[in-house]
Amino acid sequence: MLLLTPGPVQTRPETRAAMAVDIAPWDPDFGPEYVAVRERVRDLAGGVAGVHATLPLQGAGHFMVEAAIRSFLPPGGRILVPRNGAYADRMIRLAQEAGRDPVPLPLPDTRGVTAEEIAAALAADPSISHVGMVYSETGSGIINDPAAVGAAVRAAGKRLIVDAVSAFGALPFDLKSQPECDVVLFTSNKCLEGLPGIGFAVCPMDRARERAGMAGSWCFDLGDVLRHAERSGWGSFRFTPPVQALHAFRVALDLYDAEGGQAARLARYAENMRVLRAGAERLGLRPYLDAAHQGPIILTLHQPDAPGFTLPGFVEALKRRGVLISNFYTTPTPSIRIGCIGAVTPDDMRFALTAMEAALQELGVNRRAA
Ligand SMILES: *Cc1c(COP(=O)(O)O)cnc(C)c1O
Repeated sequence: MLLLTPGPVQTRPETRAAMAVDIAPWDPDFGPEYVAVRERVRDLAGGVAGVHATLPLQGAGHFMVEAAIRSFLPPGGRILVPRNGAYADRMIRLAQEAGRDPVPLPLPDTRGVTAEEIAAALAADPSISHVGMVYSETGSGIINDPAAVGAAVRAAGKRLIVDAVSAFGALPFDLKSQPECDVVLFTSNKCLEGLPGIGFAVCPMDRARERAGMAGSWCFDLGDVLRHAERSGWGSFRFTPPVQALHAFRVALDLYDAEGGQAARLARYAENMRVLRAGAERLGLRPYLDAAHQGPIILTLHQPDAPGFTLPGFVEALKRRGVLISNFYTTPTPSIRIGCIGAVTPDDMRFALTAMEAALQELGVNRRAA
């Protein structure tokens, strides 16, 4: 099966094979491996040894978004969230349910937020301490620029939280040049092409340290993750980790380096997107975003307005042809979401386009109707 979902993504056979072992996470043989992963991840984020640390948590990306909000905002703390997609909505909900006070900045889901919009919103409400932004909005496929937003946040003397879950590893990020950033967070899956199971936060250590104990949750306290590492060693865990996924993640990082790192991964995904988007347009499917606002991570297409078309029917017809795409959409109007990330190539995109053409035919959707 070819996975073209924007998470979990297709992984390489070498990465999956590394899962097939029994390991104890507290075994002295495994500790150094975990330490090395933490350091490599910190370096990938542009973190600096002794200044920044990788603070992992077991679980899904949402857990890490919640942990970031709880760890860096006090109860009742106010966080501005540019609201231009489904993952921004999720950040707002996570903040609300954690007893923090999200301040949504309403925007269309068809373009990234501008630095001017952030600056104006911060100037209008001095009680806001943080901006929480989604780097690659996996709802529609747009990109919010953390360097531009970060500059506005820095100028206003505020702090930044970056959900880079669907961006990190492919889109550039440099923590050392963004001193306003409390945390950039992402997971083992998506653009780093590991198996799901681990969330990563990379944070300035002094910020995390001084906030330890304020999260209102032992599990989600990134300051406590840091405190534990400083007391018990960087190779130790507070709770049982998905140790096989971590072991396989090291292989995924080796493959990432061998491919040529962030620039090479972005180039492959961008080519995947170019092939898929052009091919979809040839099939008569209309992209949701203007080309200028299309990120390289996920392609969103308008559903064809044809009587035979249903999203479940299309997903099922593609699955029978060996291609799995997202079975839901989060745009205001009905759409189709196809991921361009993971261990997939432009040839895989061509294969998917052939399957899409046949699936549309099967549903009786002709090119004109699409
Ligand atoms: C995938 C994703 C997440 C996290 O999803 P989980 O299912 O919790 O791992 C968070 N933010 C963005 C932008 C994502 O694309």
